[in-house]
Amino acid sequence: MRLQKHEALKLLNELNLKELGEMALKRKKELHPNNITTFVVDRNINYTNICFVNCKFCAFYRHAKDSDGYILDYETIAKKIDELIEIGGTQILFQGGVHPKLKIEWYEDLVEWIHNKYPQITIHGFSAIEIDYISKISKISYHETLQRLKNKGLSSIPGAGAEILSDRVREIISPNKLSSTEWLNVHKAAHEVGVKSTATMMFGTVESDEEIIEHLEKIRTLQDETGGFRAFILWSFQPYNTKLKDEFPHIHKASSNRYLKLLALSRLYLDNFQNIQSSWVTQGSYIGQMALLFGANDLGSTMMEENVVRMAGAENKMNMQEMINLIKDIGEIPAKRDTAYNILEVFN
Ligand code: SF4
Repeated sequence: MRLQKHEALKLLNELNLKELGEMALKRKKELHPNNITTFVVDRNINYTNICFVNCKFCAFYRHAKDSDGYILDYETIAKKIDELIEIGGTQILFQGGVHPKLKIEWYEDLVEWIHNKYPQITIHGFSAIEIDYISKISKISYHETLQRLKNKGLSSIPGAGAEILSDRVREIISPNKLSSTEWLNVHKAAHEVGVKSTATMMFGTVESDEEIIEHLEKIRTLQDETGGFRAFILWSFQPYNTKLKDEFPHIHKASSNRYLKLLALSRLYLDNFQNIQSSWVTQGSYIGQMALLFGANDLGSTMMEENVVRMAGAENKMNMQEMINLIKDIGEIPAKRDTAYNILEVFN
């Protein structure tokens, strides 16, 4: 029977970590009986750090006038992709800040150039806030924006920018960012034009438990409608070097206990999501490994390069061999996958 909101709240408040974890692990094993834990070999490429949105939880962005603001040139992007191919990578997570001046034509040229030069690489790029702004500045709909980028070679879009899908929370932590309805509408439009996506949640700022569950409810409802989310990824706010931490000094990094409990709850609530990723980037490799016992079936990506959470104080690193070892250590079978979760190689 499908978990209702009040039941989810009860589970979160009344069960301890172990009890919730056992329920989530049981559910994971029902969905993934083959004992395989997947990961993807990819590289995060942040094509620009210039952004006018000024989210208070973000330590990554710069303004156009800042001396360390950048837009990567094609040559630099190519070098990064060449390095990725050298280690057997298959995907680029291609995201930027929201540059105030770049329109759809600029993005079309870039995607087309990458896709033509590297047809074997999947472009998983442009989160909802970028799509929203490209459509606004170019005066076209979400559907047209996504269709045009898809035509040039965009494969799927990441779930970044969901934070908590509550406008009360968004008003406090990222007042200039798109609303929760807009975030959902971008993903709905993506699914409707055949671009799959992932869903995320960033917790650990000013949200309540009820708002966390409301967030899960909203993405579960959209998934019922479109089936376009490939995975859910949960991560915690990284407080260092952020305005939000200055404004709310009492906010600290979320505990591992809280992360694992919310991860387990997500596995139970999101009954229409096949894949749940562990976020070792924000939690560190050992909690990332533990997450596999709390409902996650995927260790995410090797992230050859990560800039956004690193700037906010989380500098965790992992290569493919470390991932394989962590997965084997808990008795599961590691497998490299592609963006669509097809298995490419199993490491018995
Ligand atoms: S989180 Fe994204 S949209 Fe917000 S300031 Fe940082 S780069 Fe810009």
